[in-house]
Formats: sequence, structure tokens, C-alpha cells
Amino acid sequence: MKYDYLIVGTGLFGAVFAHEMNKCGRKCLVIDKRNHIAGNIYTEKKLDINVHKYGAHIFHTSDKKVWNYVNQFCEFNNYINQPVAIYKDELYNLPFNMNTFSKMWGIKTPAEAERIIREQVAEQNNLKPKNLEEQALSLVGRDIYEKLIKGYTEKQWGRECTELPSFIIKRLPVRFTFNNNYFNDRYQGIPCGGYTELISKLLNDIPVMLNTEYKEFIAKTDDVFEKTVYTGMIDEFFDYSLGELEYRSLKFEEEILEGVANYQGNAVVNYTAKEVPYTRIIEHKHFEFGTQPDTIITREYSKKWSRGDEPYYPVNDDKNQKLYSEYEKLAEARQDVIFGGRLGKYKYYDMDKVVAEALSLCEKEI
Ligand code: UDP
Repeated sequence: MKYDYLIVGTGLFGAVFAHEMNKCGRKCLVIDKRNHIAGNIYTEKKLDINVHKYGAHIFHTSDKKVWNYVNQFCEFNNYINQPVAIYKDELYNLPFNMNTFSKMWGIKTPAEAERIIREQVAEQNNLKPKNLEEQALSLVGRDIYEKLIKGYTEKQWGRECTELPSFIIKRLPVRFTFNNNYFNDRYQGIPCGGYTELISKLLNDIPVMLNTEYKEFIAKTDDVFEKTVYTGMIDEFFDYSLGELEYRSLKFEEEILEGVANYQGNAVVNYTAKEVPYTRIIEHKHFEFGTQPDTIITREYSKKWSRGDEPYYPVNDDKNQKLYSEYEKLAEARQDVIFGGRLGKYKYYDMDKVVAEALSLCEKEI
């Protein structure tokens, strides 16, 4: 059998690419080592609740093309992410906005909040931020940093904020309005019916082999593939020949709470104190405004990745970026393989960027 593409991974990148190329008449085979499709956006229905099995995913974008694209396959609901943060016995709204500032300092107006932040930022002596701690202090001052950033970030990344690149914190908006929307993007929502539905529609009509590990598969198949699209870890593809890239992994502790209709009143609650071992608790039903009599929660713990663990976040500091660029050179020399997605590109991509990247690759290939 001769195929145009072997696509490794049924996550968002692989599924969008396969869908578009199949539509143009290219012959695709998609494989995945897991026993289900959808990669890390996989959702599983339990007690009529779509459980985000590999962590919470909220689709948000300002790219109209991407938004229209995903909406072709399923309807998105009007969920807006408005997480709250618990620090010891205090509860704050996120992202950092007037609700946060008002609770923190008992103030009411933007002018008061700006004055307090300005005073705290001034203690930084206007130095150019060299790491995440300095970046956070120069953005929101010491109170917010110590209660809402330091503990969470150090748990999430497993190192001191002084040892982390500042770009990570730039994902979080700071606003002087009473707006709890976590994202600044124009469009936002969760696919009605779950993400697995979305991927299943994308892969409709395309042959998919589950429980199929790439290296084992190519060693024994007689099929011929013009090109391979690889969405797994780039360093694993090259047998870690230049060394291991660093990733953060996660541990999920799922709990069914029968007879509890509403555990925490919100889909996402972050625990920002270092003493609490998990980073957040997800209550899945609230992503879809569920009214079921029971609920399912997941405690999320961040941990160091080692071989055999699932990788979730690339650690894009200078050391790892340098190693990645060496792997990139190996990748460029392989005309028959295209790398894509968060793991293939070793990049902290959001879902919309993954869709955009897959679509632009399709244009190039066509
Ligand atoms: N962050 C924080 N406090 C919070 C939530 C996030 O300091 O309560 C920081 C932290 O450094 C984290 C980054 O913001 O790594 C990005 O968080 P986000 O929630 O966007 O990460 P993701 O949802 O991708 O895990």
C-alpha cells in the first residue's frame, strides 16, 4: 500500500493536517500509540460529564480563520474562563484585575490600584527584568507576586522564579477593569460534546490505527509513505542522540463525588500557596454549565518529566532552546519528515496556534 502521508499522533495538529490533506485527495494513514484519539485534548464522558483527561483545555483565539475553521466541525459553547485563585484562606479573581486588587487592598478605583502597584514596582529601581521574578515584580508588585504568582509558578515549573524565563508570565493579562476573563482573545469556548468529538469529526473517513507505536510500526510495515508528519517529541524521534530536552509532566488525581452537584462553583480553581501540593482543581461539569446531580473533580500536580512520563510543557529556557535548535538541524536534514505541534516543535503553543500551524503546513504541501 502506498500512502502520501503517515501522520503520527491524533492530536489537534495531526487531525487537522490529515483532514485537509485527505480532502485534497492525498492518501493518509494516522497512527497513535494510545488506545484513543485526540492526544492531550481527549475528553471522556463519565456520568454525562465530559472529563478533560489530560488537563483543562479552553479554546481561545483572535484568529477569525482558525475560529471559523474549528466551528465547521462542532458548535462551541459560550464558556469564558474565569479562574479563581486560593492563597491560604484568601480567594482572588484571576487574571490580575480590579476584583483582585480590590480584595487584596480594600480599594475601589483603578487610580488607587495603579498607585499601589506603582509604589511596589518602584521598589524594583526600574531594572530591566532578567527572570520571571523580576518580570512579575515590575508588572504587578510584591503583594500579587508573593500571593498569586510565586508559589504557583514554582510548583508548576519545579524551580525558583529567579531561574525561569520571564516570557511565561507574559501570558497573563493585567487589567485595571473589573473583567475576569482569563484571555484577551476575541473568541472563546469549549466544543459542545467534548474535544474528542471534534477530533473524531476531523478524522472521519481517514484510516486510524490506535495502540500503534511509531518506531515499532515502521519496523514491521510494508507500506510506503512519501512523507511522515511527526507530532511526538522531537528528541525521542532522534533517539535522544543529542541529549534529553526538558519537559514538565503532570499527575492527575480524578475523583467522582456522587451526590455533590457543585463542589467548587467554578471550572478552574488555582492553589497558589507552595504548601498545597497541587496547582489546581478542575471541576469538569462547569466547562459546559452542567446540571448533573454528581460531579467529577481533578487535582492537578506538576512534576518533573522523565522517560516514560507524558510530556505536557516544553521548558523553553535558554539551555533547552539551544539543544532544540540542534535537533532542528537534524530535522531539516530529514526531507521526508515534518515535525509539528507542541512536542514536535518544542513550543508552548496554545490550541489555536496549533491549528494555524497545521493549516499553513497544508497550504505549503499543496
Ligand atoms: N500563573 C500564576 N498564577 C496563577 C496562574 C498562572 O503565577 O494562578 C503563571 C504561572 O507562571 C504559569 C503561567 O502563569 O506557568 C501560565 O499559566 P496558564 O494558566 O496560562 O498555563 P496553562 O493553562 O497553559 O497551564
